[in-house]
Amino acid sequence: MRSKLFGSSGVRGLVNVDLTPILAYKIGLAVATFSKTKKVLVARDTRVSGLMLENALVSGLLAGGANVSCLGISPTPVLAFLTKRLVADAGVMITASHNPPEYNGIKIFDKNGVAYDDRSQGGIEKIIGSEHFVLSDWQNIHDISYIHEDNSYIEMMLKAAKLDRKWQLIVDAGCGATCNIAPLIFKILGCKVTAINSQPDGFFPARSPEPNAESLKPLAQIVQKLKADIGIGFDGDGDRVAFIDEEGNFANFDHVLAAYAAHVMKKKGRGIVVTNVEASMCVEKMVEKYGGKVIRTKVGDVYIAEAMKRHSAVFGGESCGAWIHPQFHYCPDGILSAVMLLKALEEEDKSLSELIAETPLYETLRENIICKDKVKYEVVKKVGKSLKIAFPAYKEYSSVDGVRLVFENGWILVRASGTEPLVRLTVEGESLKVAKEIMKRGVAFVRKLIGEMKN
Ligand code: MG
Repeated sequence: MRSKLFGSSGVRGLVNVDLTPILAYKIGLAVATFSKTKKVLVARDTRVSGLMLENALVSGLLAGGANVSCLGISPTPVLAFLTKRLVADAGVMITASHNPPEYNGIKIFDKNGVAYDDRSQGGIEKIIGSEHFVLSDWQNIHDISYIHEDNSYIEMMLKAAKLDRKWQLIVDAGCGATCNIAPLIFKILGCKVTAINSQPDGFFPARSPEPNAESLKPLAQIVQKLKADIGIGFDGDGDRVAFIDEEGNFANFDHVLAAYAAHVMKKKGRGIVVTNVEASMCVEKMVEKYGGKVIRTKVGDVYIAEAMKRHSAVFGGESCGAWIHPQFHYCPDGILSAVMLLKALEEEDKSLSELIAETPLYETLRENIICKDKVKYEVVKKVGKSLKIAFPAYKEYSSVDGVRLVFENGWILVRASGTEPLVRLTVEGESLKVAKEIMKRGVAFVRKLIGEMKN
C-alpha cells in the first residue's frame, strides 16, 4: 500500500501547506533514526523554498546525530551518484522534479544511490507517525560541511562516452538544477554548446520545469534557427531529459526510449529492458526485434530501478524521459542519458530523426471516467474479470499497476487516479481504428461495473 506522506517519488506537496519546515525537520530526524545513519549527503534544486526546507531537514539530521554534507544546488542524479561514491549512508534530495514552482519535495536515497522503496519509505513514515525519534547526545552533534564534488561525477561521464563528433547542441536547463553542470559536461566532451535558461531561478520564469513538446517550443525554434544537431531539455532536477531533433521537431518520448533501447540490444545482442505499464508497445517491438525482452513495472522510477536490479536488466526507462543506465548507477540521469544518446547516434552514424525513424508509430488514447473515491480502487480491483470477458482473445494479463491487458494489436490499461475521483483508461492500438475499438469496449465495461457497484 502506498503510504500517506510518501508517494512513488518521496514526499511531494505545496510548500508551507503540505510540505512545511516542521515536516522537513521530522523527515530529517526520521532518516537519521531509521538508517542509524552516520553520514548523509543533502542537495536541492533551484526552487525558492529549497534553502528553507534544507535548513529544517539538516537540523533534523543533525539532531539525530548524522554527519551532514551539503552539495547546494545539484541535480538529483549527481546527489544519488555521490551518495554511493562518497560512501554515505543516505542521500536526501530536496526537489519537486517537474512540478510547478510552488511545490517542493523530499526524496531519499540509500547508500547504493537507489531511491527508497515503499518499504523503507513506510519505515520513515512510521517513525514520523509515532514520533519515535532517537535524539543524539549533545556531544555527538556535528557541524555541517559544504562540499563541491562535481569532479567525480564529471569523471564518470567522461568514462561513459568519448564523443568523436563536434556536436552542436542547444542545452535548455529551464533554470533548474542542471544549469551549470550540464553545459559544462557537454563542453568538456568537446561539443559546441549554446546554453539557454541556464541561470538558476526557482520561479522557473522561462518555461515549465516539465520538459515536453509545449514547454520546449522555444528550444525547438532555436535548434532550427541555429541549425544545431540536437536540442536537449531537462526537468527541474535533471533526472529527466527530452530531445529536439535536427529539424526542430520534439522527439516523442516513447520513440526515443524504444530507439535507444534497440541500440543497447544491438550492442549487447540481447538482455532485459524495464519500462512501466504506460509506455508504448513500440518498446517491445524494438527490443524484441533485436533479441531482447521487456519487463513492465508500476509507474515510478523507484519501481524501474528495483526491477532492473532484480532482473539484471541492461537498460530501463519511463516515457517521461527518465532513463536508468545500470552500468553507472541506478538513479535516472538526464545528463548521462543525453551523453549516451549522442554516443549511440555516433555509433549508428545517424541523426536523431533517422534513429527514431525505424520505430513504429502507434495511436494512444486516454479517457477518464468519473468514479467516487470510495469505490474507484474497488472498481479497478474487479475490472480485470470484466475485461477478460470483454476481450477473450487477450495475450497477457497484468495487475502490477491497475489492470493491463495486452492483445495482438494493442493494449488497455485501467488505473484509479491517485489524486482525483477518476478511473483512467489508456489504450494503444496499431491504428487509430483499433485503438478506438478497444477504448469503446473498455469504457462500456468499466461504466457497467461502476453502475453495478452503485447498486
Ligand atoms: Mg525529475
